[in-house]
Amino acid sequence: MTVSFHLCQPGGGASCGACCGLYNFQDHSREALTEQLATQTARLRRTPLDAESWGEAARELLEQRHASPMFPAVRVCPLLGFIDFQGRQVGCLGHPKVTGGVDLRDCGVYRSSVCETFTCPSFGWLTDGQARLVQAACADWYLYGLVITDVEFVRACLRLLEWELGGPARPEEMMARPEVLATVRRLFALKETAPRRDKRAVVFGRFSRDVEGEPVPRMLDYVKLGVRAAPEDDVVLCLGYTPTDPTELMASRELVRSHVRAVSRALAA
Ligand code: SF4
Ligand code: SF4
Repeated sequence: MTVSFHLCQPGGGASCGACCGLYNFQDHSREALTEQLATQTARLRRTPLDAESWGEAARELLEQRHASPMFPAVRVCPLLGFIDFQGRQVGCLGHPKVTGGVDLRDCGVYRSSVCETFTCPSFGWLTDGQARLVQAACADWYLYGLVITDVEFVRACLRLLEWELGGPARPEEMMARPEVLATVRRLFALKETAPRRDKRAVVFGRFSRDVEGEPVPRMLDYVKLGVRAAPEDDVVLCLGYTPTDPTELMASRELVRSHVRAVSRALAA
């Protein structure tokens, strides 16, 4: 583990439920996920704190779910919800710290011991500085989970920034300057805000689905597009773009480039 703090509930407005299946839907917009989490939270908050009642509630929530998971192998847990009363912190409603003592995680889609010990690859693959930067720049439950779990996206954004700066991009410096941090947030927030993405495309960031429903990494078909690879393309893919012609690809590259330049300009000011 290279990250020195717990990525799941790091505080400061950030929280994550990605490995509980939060984003595992074709429509994983903030609106759709807020609605689902609110439904789960409301149902489980009025359920007596015993395994039988929670097991029944979990089954009911699974049956009522409108959308099917995008990747069937990645389970979507009905015990995920808002663990605060303002709807700002996503987390496990069956965790003893949330219930006040009783562990009800066995009623979810994994055994409690699995939930307790699991750490996703971001714990080992992000540096402490990169993780702190994501936490500071993405201080909300929706964006934080999307970004902290996409190591390739974070690294690719910072790599582009280093090329632009002609030197190292220092997370500590970016975090210490609010005007710079705001530009970093806008760059990372492209995960949510990037325009003209095809909503019907069966992709999740860099991944599409194979015939078995498993996630597989995507590539751009440069021969078909008739263009050469560019440094922005990793970020373009991580944002979920599926360009079908050179104009679309150029526009998405320019979007990424302009956001990276904005961070660089803010650092130089
Ligand atoms: S995906 Fe990673 S950071 Fe998010 S809740 Fe799971 S283990 Fe924690
Ligand atoms: S029971 Fe496990 S999988 Fe379900 S929300 Fe809690 S931590 Fe996530």
